[in-house]
Amino acid sequence: MEIAVAKHAGFCPGVKRAIRMAESELEKAPEAVCTLGPIIHNPHVVNELQERGIRILPDDKATLLKSHITGTHIVIRSHGISPDLQQLLMERGAHLVDATCPTVKKAQRAAIRLVKEGYNLFIVGNAEHPEVKAILGHIDGEAVVISEPHELKNWWSNQTRKVRKVGLIAQTTVDLFMFRNLVDELITEVPEFVSEVLEVKVINTLCRNTLARQSEAFQLALSSDFVLVLGGRNSSNTEFLRKICEITGTRTLKIETADELDLAFLEGVQRVAILGGASTPNTIVEEVRQKIVGSG
Ligand code: SF4
Repeated sequence: MEIAVAKHAGFCPGVKRAIRMAESELEKAPEAVCTLGPIIHNPHVVNELQERGIRILPDDKATLLKSHITGTHIVIRSHGISPDLQQLLMERGAHLVDATCPTVKKAQRAAIRLVKEGYNLFIVGNAEHPEVKAILGHIDGEAVVISEPHELKNWWSNQTRKVRKVGLIAQTTVDLFMFRNLVDELITEVPEFVSEVLEVKVINTLCRNTLARQSEAFQLALSSDFVLVLGGRNSSNTEFLRKICEITGTRTLKIETADELDLAFLEGVQRVAILGGASTPNTIVEEVRQKIVGSG
């Protein structure tokens, strides 16, 4: 069986940077380093960091406020946090280490700019994702988060005032098809869009590394007869990779570790592609590859 490992499997630059910053903070203050929620969506990496002393604080504000945070060194993960939470943590005596990915910061700045310029802002993405919540926190919630075309129509049908300026950005890790489809649907499926709107500004906030990963996933899925997508169950960029591969019709399986791989799935497979999400370490990719090599 031929095995094709994606060139873009393994940590993305934003995740590498966040982990590097957490590790360097551990050297300075071994007893005091915390993250708000798991630093990345990969339980194995998170467990390792916990064993080395990193503590995980709750990432919801209400529970967080009940925790002891004075004197802690809090590493802000790559998704970022809202300015009011940042302020609050500093007031409570925490030392903040900002590992927000520079690409996510660009999305935050794009949102701030569009709202300041009076655009009705739409964010394509998942409203529950920490990155989207943080972006909303930078603009006092002044945006509509959409992930399905019908949400656009519903929102428009509830408007009492005419909408003149529309701004669009995306959660950095959504898939390109979803972003393009929603922009297309806005124009073709919402009748008010053509009759009311005078100005549209789309800012491409998609992460370049994610786009490269998605495009490679699509190509590899087309040229293979089985795809293994490796990543944390709660990692949204990994889930998008799975969906992209499934669109091609190639059998696709998402797993977190080599232990979860049942080799019976690969019976009769000629070429298997191995992909990894942005928070999947290369060690897991290699373990899965070795397991397949060892079986043949
Ligand atoms: S996926 Fe992209 S935006 Fe997200 S942390 Fe990695 S490099 Fe940054």
